[in-house]
Amino acid sequence: MTVFNLPSQGVLYTSENHPLADGKIELRPMKAKDEQVLVANTPDVLDKLLNRCIVSEGVQAKDLYHQDKMFLLYMLRAISYGEDYSFVVKCPDCNEKNHHTINILNKDHMAVNSLEKLGPFTVEMSGAVITWDFITGEQESTIQRRLKNLKKVRREDEGAYIYNYAATIRTIDGDEPSPKTAIDFIKELSVKDLALLEDSMYEYRFGIVNDFILECESCFSESEVAIPLTETFFRPNRRVGRRQ
Ligand SMILES: [Zn+2]
Repeated sequence: MTVFNLPSQGVLYTSENHPLADGKIELRPMKAKDEQVLVANTPDVLDKLLNRCIVSEGVQAKDLYHQDKMFLLYMLRAISYGEDYSFVVKCPDCNEKNHHTINILNKDHMAVNSLEKLGPFTVEMSGAVITWDFITGEQESTIQRRLKNLKKVRREDEGAYIYNYAATIRTIDGDEPSPKTAIDFIKELSVKDLALLEDSMYEYRFGIVNDFILECESCFSESEVAIPLTETFFRPNRRVGRRQ
């Protein structure tokens, strides 16, 4: 079992006697029986996996802030299968597939930023002054549920980023918006104002920095790419059908 320090340092968990208030959480490595939950391809599969492996009492994955949850998934990967993660990414310039390996626990490969400032954060836009704040694990689950239902109703994918951004909005010109108002507000934002919001979110972002500088093996250009979470993340070196 290993104790980790959360990127939020626990300060976002403000209810009385919250088990994460000290920013520490204990995880155990995955067991053979835990791999079974990965077979179900549902949105909450990673929450279920984390719930099995979180040792700290009274902590549920759904209560974790997204940034803390992502950090824990990487740490769970490292203590369960090893620190090296190999994946394939396409070079944005020439489309060549590059094979890449990072060491999850190596700070040069994978930086983890601690939370430095508490929200809400104010952004002055051309048409409005808004405040935004980090979304809770509960809000994140709500967004996932709504997007899934919308897909059924409208048979098309809504831009998930619109719903994620809308959920961060706390006030518009001093008023608390309803979920629908916030979604419509984001949809109608000029791209210039949207960029202001994104800049503010980037400035105060914390947690795993999951992009890195890729030097392409084929065209040698350097570009910033995100580390993909592929099926080999939690099931590395599995041969298809080996355990049928
Ligand atoms: Zn290239």
